[in-house]
Amino acid sequence: MPAQLIDGAAIAARTKSEVQTRVRELTNLGHRVHLVALLVGGIDAGALYAQRQGEACRAIGIDYTLHKLPATITQKELKHEIRRLNADASVTGIMMHLPLPSHLDAPRLQYEIDVVKDVEGVNPANIGYVVYGHTLIAPCTALSAVELIKSTGVRIEGAEAVVVGASQIAGKPISLLLTEQMATVTLCHIATKDLKLHTRRAEILVVAVGKPGLIQPEDVLDGAVIIDVGINRIALPDGTKKTVGDVEFDTVRHKASHITPVPGGVGPMTVAMLLRNTLRSAELHFGTTK
Ligand code: NAD
Repeated sequence: MPAQLIDGAAIAARTKSEVQTRVRELTNLGHRVHLVALLVGGIDAGALYAQRQGEACRAIGIDYTLHKLPATITQKELKHEIRRLNADASVTGIMMHLPLPSHLDAPRLQYEIDVVKDVEGVNPANIGYVVYGHTLIAPCTALSAVELIKSTGVRIEGAEAVVVGASQIAGKPISLLLTEQMATVTLCHIATKDLKLHTRRAEILVVAVGKPGLIQPEDVLDGAVIIDVGINRIALPDGTKKTVGDVEFDTVRHKASHITPVPGGVGPMTVAMLLRNTLRSAELHFGTTK
């Protein structure tokens, strides 16, 4: 029987609606939620993403300011800009669009973002809090994957969870959050000797690599929950392009119990998690956490 689809778009819509309700309550108390996004240089993809992000924020009552900065900005100038926003009481959240021009050191600049205003959870202190089990703000993609697993109702505690891909933004924080939920977690990456050995025993399988077709039906345990974080643009024989994940969806869906589609799975939920993190930052900023 085909797997149940994990409808990321529908779950994201519910999450946004909850965030909107709380943003309205804060606004009624005189607290404006205000996200400032930094965009360095005129990268088209970044500008389009920022525009959509602005629309998503405003649709639920979050103020959104996009600071466009010249590609020639120096490390020192950008550091000062971040520090200025950290000190600005009217700003409740800060994020920086990547990639940055090559002369800028992105991680060092992300470290400058105030821990409480760090809506993407990229300050190492926030990752540290995740490790210690006192999560303030976790990375959005990781939260998205874990929320989608939770949405299935499958028991995470004690489950064999395998995460494929060990990036800072996705795989590593996903493995930390699943460990926090008491799963038994195996983290695989490019140097993993026998990937299939691990994926075949995964009751929960999260794939965040960026390689279409990496996971085939024979690599999957019957009844597994599968979260496909990958986003890949592939060319079809007719010359058109299509977005797919890392999991061969059409075949693997007949073995899994639950599976995320691509698009429509982790992607929309990641946007919702950014909005939820933005609310969380504001609550921490105003001291209104419930
Ligand atoms: P990355 O390139 O930073 O990391 C890729 C990871 O995969 C590395 O840890 C690497 O060791 C591992 N890897 C590479 N080849 C492998 C293989 N054959 N077997 C096992 N592990 C292998 O990538 P990233 O930034 O984490 O992104 C991964 C994918 O997730 C991309 O397709 C990206 O577009 C997508 N992504 C989606 C969202 C979302 O919201 N849906 C967010 C972030 C990233």
